[in-house]
Amino acid sequence: MRLSVIGCGYLGAVHAAAMAQLGHDVVGIDVDGAKVAALSAGSAPFFEPGLADILRASIGSGRLRFSTDIALVADAEVHFVAVGTPQARGGGAADLTYVDAAIESLLPHLKAGSLVAGKSTVPVGTAARLAERLQTAGTGAILAWNPEFLREGYAVQDTISPDRLVYGLPADDGREHAKAALDTVYASALASGTPVVETDYATAELVKVAANAFLATKISFINAMAEIAEVTDADVTALADAIGHDTRIGRRFLNAGIGFGGGCLPKDIRAFTARAEELGRGESVAFLKEIDAINMRRRQRAVDLVVDALGGSVYRKKVAVLGLAFKPDSDDVRDSPALDVAVQLNGLGARVIATDPAAIPNSIRLHPQLGFATDTMDALHEADAVVLVTEWREYRDLDPVVTAALVRDPVIIDGRNVLDPAVWRAAGWRYTGMGRP
Ligand code: NAD
Repeated sequence: MRLSVIGCGYLGAVHAAAMAQLGHDVVGIDVDGAKVAALSAGSAPFFEPGLADILRASIGSGRLRFSTDIALVADAEVHFVAVGTPQARGGGAADLTYVDAAIESLLPHLKAGSLVAGKSTVPVGTAARLAERLQTAGTGAILAWNPEFLREGYAVQDTISPDRLVYGLPADDGREHAKAALDTVYASALASGTPVVETDYATAELVKVAANAFLATKISFINAMAEIAEVTDADVTALADAIGHDTRIGRRFLNAGIGFGGGCLPKDIRAFTARAEELGRGESVAFLKEIDAINMRRRQRAVDLVVDALGGSVYRKKVAVLGLAFKPDSDDVRDSPALDVAVQLNGLGARVIATDPAAIPNSIRLHPQLGFATDTMDALHEADAVVLVTEWREYRDLDPVVTAALVRDPVIIDGRNVLDPAVWRAAGWRYTGMGRP
């Protein structure tokens, strides 16, 4: 099929490359010329395992190209909209400026019978409004909402083999046509048994925010248990193991630590709250404010633990911060708890030396005031305290004996509860986890 993807960020670039990899003919459009140039050269403008390989292969095969020229979408049968929906300034609602601009830019190029498939995460009610816009503009194009559930770090695999597909379809005659087009796009996933939920616009929009609200709740739930564990000398990791054995609960997403961040969960739960309030149902998701508050407290808790471990002040102390990305295998620092901890410690006068395998360039752009080291050993050298805030494999695998010899004082705060306290203590470290005795 001939496809276009409007907006080539974390979602759109991966979607474009993966669809070309599956055999479709794809043009990716973005307003950011530098991003388009990098993508066109086969280089991923952000860190995502496997993306560069499928970009190069698809560009080489002639099935994938990128441009800033929206007119190139004219031939496409399906147009995916994958632009950002960030948190609006001065409030929790989603900023839909980019979605609206993308739709307006598409209008002159839409053929009758073509499909516009929204992938961005939007407040419920957006798709119905956009469908009306397509209609009043007389395009003859059909709208579907097809939310995306990819996880950064696994984005390529999640796009090629999703665990489910959700089609938000129009109620009218366009329904069968839209479904058939999406079935053709996703033929390979469907052939391997990927389940499809066919529904209306509102449900499709809600599925995405409900999934993120649930995941955020699970993380904040275990972090709330960590707060109780901290005042009772209980161990939240053993608690998570024990309740996780109950198959109704499950162990995944029950790791206590410094909480969630990134370009999705925080802004999506705030946008959901704002939209529910607009709909007169604020009380139904009022708990999400508490989920957000618990989450933000855990970042502060990690900072407090470093301050306490250094005797009440971090002023002029060298603190090695291991990790900056919001999660491992990503260079994304949007609303990153790790970067937040580094910034807060710096604000308290610590000499922060932060390191990360992928996220240093993005962190420098946002917070050039921090100290950075590309080599973990340089970050650790003569440190008065170490704080592990993104659980990259190389930090989980650090040798406590080797690292103890590098630092000035063997003090470690494990903000992700990924180190074995007994092993680290045996190597002479003063170890503190999150909600662990
Ligand atoms: P992003 O900021 O990385 O990418 C958005 C891209 O859209 C940017 O490259 C920007 O230049 C481009 N853009 C903005 N306006 C445009 C326009 N009018 N025309 C063409 N391009 C335009 O954002 P992202 O992380 O890729 O997220 C995109 C959407 O997908 C959001 O709604 C997000 O919530 C959702 N989502 C993201 C993920 C994820 O893991 N990143 C997962 C699922 C859903």
